[in-house]
Amino acid sequence: MLLAYRQKRTGQLEAFLALAASRKERSTMKDFSEKISSIAGKEPDKLTAAQKRGSFITKLLMQAYSPNETVVWHSLFMPTEIFYAMDIIPFSTEMVSAGLAGAGLSKDLVEIGESYTQCNDSCSFATCAVGAINEDIFPVPDFLITTSQLCDPAKKLASMSAKKYGRREFFIDVPFGAYSLNNEDYSIARKYVTRQLYEMIAFIEDETGKKLDYDRLAEIIKLSNETRDWFRKVREIRKGPAVIRGAKALDFSSVLLNIWGSNEAVDIFRTLYEEVGRKSSEGGLPNEKYRIGWVHLRPYYDNTIINYLEENCGAYIVVEENNYIFWDELDSDNPLESIAEKLLANPAYSDLQIKNRLYSENIEEYRLDGIIGYAHKGCRHFYSALHIASEHFKNRISFLVVDGDCVDPRAYSFPLVKTRLDSFIDSMSIRKDGF
Ligand code: SF4
Repeated sequence: MLLAYRQKRTGQLEAFLALAASRKERSTMKDFSEKISSIAGKEPDKLTAAQKRGSFITKLLMQAYSPNETVVWHSLFMPTEIFYAMDIIPFSTEMVSAGLAGAGLSKDLVEIGESYTQCNDSCSFATCAVGAINEDIFPVPDFLITTSQLCDPAKKLASMSAKKYGRREFFIDVPFGAYSLNNEDYSIARKYVTRQLYEMIAFIEDETGKKLDYDRLAEIIKLSNETRDWFRKVREIRKGPAVIRGAKALDFSSVLLNIWGSNEAVDIFRTLYEEVGRKSSEGGLPNEKYRIGWVHLRPYYDNTIINYLEENCGAYIVVEENNYIFWDELDSDNPLESIAEKLLANPAYSDLQIKNRLYSENIEEYRLDGIIGYAHKGCRHFYSALHIASEHFKNRISFLVVDGDCVDPRAYSFPLVKTRLDSFIDSMSIRKDGF
């Protein structure tokens, strides 16, 4: 028998699709249904890595609206391996907000969200989600799992959602700054997070009535590790000539994707490796003049910044902070300990010198001419860290910080940003060529 609350999901999907259709002219993506049918018409092994990723994410999204599926709403950086091992569909409201921005829906939803939160300076990924929840276009979750790593609004968003839908939530407290802990304190932190993961599994078992199969988890961990291996190889190839357009690479955002632990993720990143390998053997993309490192994300309602840099200026993004594989290979014999280590290892949830060390390594390894950070105004972690980093590196490399918002298009003006991009290109030219 279907659970009563899940039956709402069908109507929620209809409301979501109707809203998307009504704002079709604002969308930066092809019409949603056109996009799906163009992918669906192709043989699976003819799809590009980006199409495979789009297809799988769309499949997960549609499954999240199915009354037959168990759905967890999880915060952005929550590892998903345990969910896949328990046949639970992961749904990240913040990640879907990026899609809502691409679909031209975010302006209205952020305004609705702000009228609820009475606040216009918190992260608009979350505020847009609040708007979507108030409009009732997200699928009712079975339960919610949030970590303190790293988004500040995540816990409040989960509590608000849990209350609205009458569902239970579980919170994992991850100590900040694991890189700065001594061995003894790190070991205490790892045990502390591991214990909470055991408690989380007990919570899920209680909610679903199903036990976690640890042999299955070990298999899922192997898939996650294989995915990691393919993506590390992609990162190695990118140390040579630019082989993939920046916006495309940025959309893989491996640290945010909730596909870790799936068979599809292995296929997506293996395909990406084959594509960049082929492009590398052809000599890379044309007219590479400058090599850029990109920090944080991009505006999802508009892609003029990266297109302008790459198409007009030959300034290619060759490495992104959000595609950094910061965690070690997971240990299938000690899965929860190693997932705890993954939770502790995010450099964005660390002292600033850890991030600066990472940028420094990128400057050398990827032979960067410049770094651009898109400073999302509501992000307490990335916004301030980026401005401090630009000051730290100002005598070493051209470092541009563009203040903006990834989801909320209301204050965006490309002509204003373009003036700053042109000055940045000039500064790279002076450092590189002396004129
Ligand atoms: S911008 Fe910052 S707070 Fe917002 S979703 Fe991203 S990491 Fe979290």
